[in-house]
Amino acid sequence: MTATIIDGKSVAAKVRWQCRERADELQARHGVVPGLAVLMVGDDPASAVYVRKKIQACADVGIQSHKFLFSRDEKQSVVIDKIRELSADPKIHGILVQLPLPKHFDLQEVLGAIDQEKDVDGFHLYNVGGLVVGGTVFPPCTPYGVMLMLDNSGVEIAGRNAVVVGASNIVGKPMALMLMNREATVSVCHAKTRDLAQFTILADILIVAAGCPNLITGPMVKSGAVVIDVGINRLPNGQLVGDCDFEAVSRRASKITPVPGGVGPMTVTMLLVNTISSAERSCADRSPAIAGAVGAALID
Ligand code: NAD
Repeated sequence: MTATIIDGKSVAAKVRWQCRERADELQARHGVVPGLAVLMVGDDPASAVYVRKKIQACADVGIQSHKFLFSRDEKQSVVIDKIRELSADPKIHGILVQLPLPKHFDLQEVLGAIDQEKDVDGFHLYNVGGLVVGGTVFPPCTPYGVMLMLDNSGVEIAGRNAVVVGASNIVGKPMALMLMNREATVSVCHAKTRDLAQFTILADILIVAAGCPNLITGPMVKSGAVVIDVGINRLPNGQLVGDCDFEAVSRRASKITPVPGGVGPMTVTMLLVNTISSAERSCADRSPAIAGAVGAALID
């Protein structure tokens, strides 16, 4: 079997087109421009690249972004005061704190200061809890993007065996919850899992988010499985690869995401979706029609 490629770039392009239309509609009907505040502490070069990409993506679909930079040794209280100010600002519909934060910051305290109605990354405890009980204001972007790719590719989820490799708070755990909420039978593996292959071989849907190149080899994958590779790894020769041996796994899987060009483009796209959904909710009292569109299927 040779796997069909799930093209994250083209799914992302479709969703971004819809974002643009939704932003235009907000402007036309309510005079509202969706606003995203991005806070970055320190000058980590990788974080700076991610922030630049997010700001460019916002501009492309009609979201006004507002960037706030703090020095690496800034006091936590100063950043939290800014988050509270932005939480109360009606022009701001989403607040994002670029991670990682410097070591002297308490991550949960910082994330907890974001108004849960503006927590477009979905990391606030309120939104995490919402995911556990089967509904959430803002689904976290990376696993939300994976779900959309599965749906857009016509992958059936209910009743299938899903295996998630990686159990982080931002990818693996919310991914497992989203699949469980769609009635998959979910196993979660992590660095302490013994004999990873005995789990992965059972997966109809295999999601890998470990950050280890070539962790998943061909024989670890069930014939016909759908494989989503979330991993992003830079090899010493500069090449960007995922967590799967792409060639070997492609010969076993029925569908697979490439790296780059798979999950990556979807993550930023779902941030745009969450920001626009938030702006729409802020107008909901004024227009029940728009409120009804919130949470509607994103792709036909
Ligand atoms: P993390 O380091 O926070 O978590 C990694 C998880 O993988 C942990 O639960 C760990 O136990 C598990 N793990 C590590 N080695 C393992 C092994 N040998 N076998 C089984 N499990 C193992 O990382 P993260 O933030 O969840 O990111 C994971 C990967 O996904 C990274 O490569 C990251 O760059 C990538 N990522 C991509 C996107 C995207 O948009 N495509 C978004 C977020 C993260």
